Amino acid sequence: MINVAIDGPSGAGKSTIAKAVAKKKGFIYVDTGALYRSIGLYVSRKGIAKEDKESIISCLPEISLELKYVEGVQRVYLNSEDVSEAIRMPEISMYASAVSSVQEVRDFLLGIQRDMAKKYDVIMDGRDIGTVILPDATVKIFMTASNEGRAKRRYKELCEKGVETTYEEVLRDMTERDRADSTRAIAPAVPAEDAIMFDNTEYGIEECVDRIIDIIEEAAAKRG
Ligand code: C5P
Repeated sequence: MINVAIDGPSGAGKSTIAKAVAKKKGFIYVDTGALYRSIGLYVSRKGIAKEDKESIISCLPEISLELKYVEGVQRVYLNSEDVSEAIRMPEISMYASAVSSVQEVRDFLLGIQRDMAKKYDVIMDGRDIGTVILPDATVKIFMTASNEGRAKRRYKELCEKGVETTYEEVLRDMTERDRADSTRAIAPAVPAEDAIMFDNTEYGIEECVDRIIDIIEEAAAKRG
């Protein structure tokens, strides 16, 4: 199996690029953030505070998550409900970041991620794919872009979805979430020692996709 790990901060273009690479290479694209977001959604719907780790942990046995693919597009099901759109709301991003710092939540989501990589050629995007989930991935890429560039993309995405927000709010939330994600004690969003660093600030999407495909093909050829 080919397993491609793409980690990096929010808004670095990981999902857009990974989706396009998956399509061209016939891989399954696994968006692992959707899993943390689904748990964040469940917790927020229950009215549990983001800081209340005990209550977050006690919810886990009530949660069942499933990833399905409809015409190559990932859909995530929370207790059989398709929550693929609901999890994209900005307040759920902050909930996702909060629940993701709880070790029990990360353990809960480990199996579903590893199972996908065992069964399929995958390109998996997240924060700890190269460091924790798939330490033996065929290739590990850590993707970044400037803060302003990332906030601009995220702002545009949210506007297109009709979410009311401002660029300043997006930049502030994003910077705060990245700080929390990269400095947390458990599975921080940092590059694996053997990750290839890829800053895409100066590149267009097509160019990124081509470069990532080159990197994957080279790594796959090396592995034989
Ligand atoms: O990738 P996305 O922005 O959708 O992820 C939402 C949040 O889930 C991140 O801010 C991060 O806190 C968490 N996450 C994580 N590990 C992953 C994927 C996402 O901790 N592999």
